[in-house]
Amino acid sequence: MSAIPPPNRKPDLPPTKLFINNEWVNAVSGKTFETHNPTNGEVIAHMAEADAADVDIAVAAAREAFELGSEWRTMDASRRGLLLHRLADLIERDRAYLASLETLDNGKPYGDAYAADLALTINTYRYFSGWAGKKHGQTIPIDGDHFAYTRLEPVGVCGQIIPWNFPLAMQAWKLAPALAMGNTIVMKTAEQTPLTANHIAALVKEAGFPPGVVNILSGYGPTAGGAIATHDGVDKVAFTGSTEIGQLIHTMATGNLKRVTLELGGKSPNVVFGDCDFDYAVEKSHFALFFNQGQCCCAGSRLYVEESIYDRFVEASVERAKKRKVGDPFELGVEQGPQVSQEQVDKITELCKSGTKEGAKLALGGAQLGDEGYFFQPTVFADVKDDMRIANEEIFGPVMQIMKFKDIDEVIARGNKNMYGLAASVFTTNLEKAIKVAHELRAGTVYVNAYDVFDPAAPFGGFKMSGCGRELGEFGLEQYTEKKTVIIKTQQKNS
Ligand code: ADP
Repeated sequence: MSAIPPPNRKPDLPPTKLFINNEWVNAVSGKTFETHNPTNGEVIAHMAEADAADVDIAVAAAREAFELGSEWRTMDASRRGLLLHRLADLIERDRAYLASLETLDNGKPYGDAYAADLALTINTYRYFSGWAGKKHGQTIPIDGDHFAYTRLEPVGVCGQIIPWNFPLAMQAWKLAPALAMGNTIVMKTAEQTPLTANHIAALVKEAGFPPGVVNILSGYGPTAGGAIATHDGVDKVAFTGSTEIGQLIHTMATGNLKRVTLELGGKSPNVVFGDCDFDYAVEKSHFALFFNQGQCCCAGSRLYVEESIYDRFVEASVERAKKRKVGDPFELGVEQGPQVSQEQVDKITELCKSGTKEGAKLALGGAQLGDEGYFFQPTVFADVKDDMRIANEEIFGPVMQIMKFKDIDEVIARGNKNMYGLAASVFTTNLEKAIKVAHELRAGTVYVNAYDVFDPAAPFGGFKMSGCGRELGEFGLEQYTEKKTVIIKTQQKNS
């Protein structure tokens, strides 16, 4: 913690307007909406509220920037990389400011914002800056007197809709690969957390990206988000959020057959065997669920513990959760700040009540904490059964569900019996067991004796109803390209 500079509890606010064509403009309607500080419910700022009319203007700007012959389309790929690299440098310069602003708007602990969110954000821009100009096509020895090759071209105008749980990182996961491959962008930020994205927009301009390449709109989902998903001038839509809205986006995007990538919800199984390193597994399982106030799509929220250590594990998990330091997110050492909104607290409360009603054992917590802000008690349910709502639905809060299992095939079958498939994990000292579980659980990422390890080089995304496509890594980069095959008649060929 000593390497982390002190936070700024009252950071200057970034522009609160819409960022279109490298300029700050009001919404056409003139409307604004409030963003709140989750620690005390106070209004931080009034943000311009984009709707369909503003999306039209932003898409037109992005289309113009994508025109053949434009500054962006004729820019050397290596220079695109350089601009991304510069953007990473500027974010690094403003790292403490951005972490402070994120804590103010989202409520996450400043220490986490600085050390985790900002590190991942900066690394993501740097990683993809290195790819610009390095991802290329092939020459192909087809039959006949022909010369054939492929090109990887940008998809075009990309609509990107992001959530509130990791605003900076989710923005980076979408902007960085799209820009590395030469696309232009219309992004809608989450209505709960619009602030840090607007500072990034200012840095995009400072880094030297041409007008219209990146356009950032604050606004609501059904209006601004819906207009992006249905717009005929948008070639691809990339969305991170709930499975329910992801399904809607998938349907809305069919009009012009937009390319669609979705990163959705999860209910990830965390399997702990009796032969694990006990204390380590307790700590990591705690982290897997409680990190970021439990507001992670990949949270290890179905904790299966082998019979032989079950009672001891429940007891140790409750003790660890009791020690969790909840409070002022600006204070270094605080592990848990408020949830993002009262609406989320209400959802979590309702699911906790269902857990008790359906017969799970509430071992700790279960209710809102204090009477100011959106805090929730660290909560642990034991003796959870697979058919309970808390074992199936995404809670997105600091609520742990512990279940008992007897053998490996049983726990794999139970782990797979769920509509989601985002992440999974296994804690064991037996390599054979670890590999079997890692290969047989249907999930986009499986952690072995680890959890929530993110790296821009490693693809992330879901099986089943946790989404389609992947973000990050070379595979994530490819999803911002169209593959073109060029076949040229030649006089003669020589092998
Ligand atoms: P959460 O419930 O965690 O807020 P959502 O899936 O509702 O998750 O929100 C994720 C993102 O999707 C946000 O930017 C939100 O504004 C946007 N969104 C919500 N509803 C729609 C919609 N009908 N069309 C397009 N985007 C939407």
